[in-house]
Amino acid sequence: MILVLLGPPGAGKGTQARRLTERRGLPQLSTGDMLRAEIAGGGAFGKQAAAVMDSGRLMPDEIMTGIISNRIDVADCADGFILDGFPRTSAQAGTLDDLLAGKGLVLDAVLLLDVDEEALVERISGRFTCRNCGEGYHDRFKPTAEEGRCDKCGSLDLERRPDDSAETVRERLRVYRSQTAPILPYYEAKGLLRRVDGMAEIGEVARQIDVALGGESGSLFPNG
Ligand code: AMP
Repeated sequence: MILVLLGPPGAGKGTQARRLTERRGLPQLSTGDMLRAEIAGGGAFGKQAAAVMDSGRLMPDEIMTGIISNRIDVADCADGFILDGFPRTSAQAGTLDDLLAGKGLVLDAVLLLDVDEEALVERISGRFTCRNCGEGYHDRFKPTAEEGRCDKCGSLDLERRPDDSAETVRERLRVYRSQTAPILPYYEAKGLLRRVDGMAEIGEVARQIDVALGGESGSLFPNG
């Protein structure tokens, strides 16, 4: 199954992508995580990416489509994958169609996490992640049981994203509205768009995603 997760920054795409990975065994292809890995690597490309990300703007389409095209060819994507953070512009959506067609693949569904933008800044500015296992937390909505220690793997290595500052978040929201939201009618016209309530509690959002995908079994077409 090939899925796209769409929604503004802070909608919960990463959280839901990780849950889908756990439940359905599909790899999460997060372009943001790939860029952050490049930044951590310290190379020239990583430095360029850091400057763009810290400003809240988007990386060039050709670079991102190249990265995704290569990633889709890796063996773990053979049975499907979840795109988290891609496509983010109309050009990327068009290129994704061409890429998939060229590889004989078909996009099954686009899940839109619908959220109230007013709530996003609070959501985003309180979040942090375990660097070891990737589990996501939030100061208010999902704190760790023991301060400073990951509940899942016990690591003390917790981090906040530099682009989660209030100023950058506002720019990321502006970019979402102007460049990413216009993709929605495109997928709606193709009959692929499924909306879920991204304001609901994490488990409820996951349940709505299961329903939108045709049940826990993962079949979009339970009778066929
Ligand atoms: P994310 O982790 O998905 O919120 O992405 C963080 C940042 O990485 C974005 O604000 C962009 O600067 C960059 N980025 C991630 N995915 C893309 C993409 N598909 N196209 C362009 N820039 C991207």
